Amino acid sequence: MTNLNKEIKKFTLSRAVIFGLLICFLFQAATTDGQSTVTRDSSLFYDSHFHLTNYIQEGITVHDFLKVMGSKVGRSTLFGIPLQQEWSYENSGDFAPTYYLATDAPLYYYSFTDAYIAMSYKSLTPMEQKRFDPMITGFNPTDMYAADHIKRVLKLFPGVFSGIGEFSIHKEFVSSKISGETASLTNPALDRILEFSGETGLVVLIHNDIDMPYPKEGQEPYLLRQLGALFRRHPNTTIIWAHMGLGRVVQPVQDQLRIVDRALSDSTLKHVNIDISWNEVAKYILASPNSIKATADLINKFPDRFLFGTDEMAPASQEAYLKIYYMYAPLFAQLTPENKKKLLMGNYERLFNAARIKVRAWEKMNTGKNEVIPAPTPVSGKGINAE
Ligand SMILES: [Zn+2]
Repeated sequence: MTNLNKEIKKFTLSRAVIFGLLICFLFQAATTDGQSTVTRDSSLFYDSHFHLTNYIQEGITVHDFLKVMGSKVGRSTLFGIPLQQEWSYENSGDFAPTYYLATDAPLYYYSFTDAYIAMSYKSLTPMEQKRFDPMITGFNPTDMYAADHIKRVLKLFPGVFSGIGEFSIHKEFVSSKISGETASLTNPALDRILEFSGETGLVVLIHNDIDMPYPKEGQEPYLLRQLGALFRRHPNTTIIWAHMGLGRVVQPVQDQLRIVDRALSDSTLKHVNIDISWNEVAKYILASPNSIKATADLINKFPDRFLFGTDEMAPASQEAYLKIYYMYAPLFAQLTPENKKKLLMGNYERLFNAARIKVRAWEKMNTGKNEVIPAPTPVSGKGINAE
């Protein structure tokens, strides 16, 4: 072999080594992005419920949020609020309301939130982006065109979104303040939204109170029946029911944990998961040693179905942001280590990693096409195309 041949062979060999190392590196990066981050992640939790902005579309930047997360929170969902509180001069004069309870002026659906969230995400580096699962929220769930809005957002911002929500159907104090048609669980527009989410793989984070505030003794929690029927109509859609259905004054209905237990045991509701976000929810769960134990027992019984989230809105500091996590310590203490990890990270990772893969595949197949979403079968006698 000539010297030149030896040199060529050496060069080829070293190139092969470098190529091999590169493959190893890429493979490792892929698995980190895939299933196995939990075991290597030393953060406290992944946040399945987080609002970057408030009811007047103000908040912190995603870059500030990254600083707030620091090394404590590995991954987080990312959404604004789909509703904008109107500043009605006639109603509150020079007082500019920032919360829906501060004025009687109505709320309205603010679609620009989706562009804002998408542009915020796109301002991050690829490594930073891996930590977020942005969600589409800027649609009106009473509008038969809502699903078309979601589709338009996916096509305009491919590679960004993993889910839709948090959006609300029945929410104490809020639903009745929204201008236009009142949202309902029986509206076919909502079926179109859930159907399209199932088709694309978008995770659905829905807020719907388990009952109306202050029900009369013995009154049927009709929302629960409607909600069960809605979920059952969409078995291929991954759903997260926010706050276990609780609210500020929507208190646990009698035997509420038993109702949730029955729902989670139901094989027709396997696609439904529950988040325990919001300090108002923590208040009920942590109310007594009995309520803590009963909730822990339920999570230990169905460890794959519960997610932790903060429901924080534009937190000013890491201390404020992590408050609810530390509040829940007595509950976490009663979970097995494995189930605690599932609640805090594992279930998030499983659901949102699957969504990322499915939604990216859908975008690849559909970007550039402009087909119309077919209308679903009517769910009530009213019919979708009624004139
Ligand atoms: Zn929320």
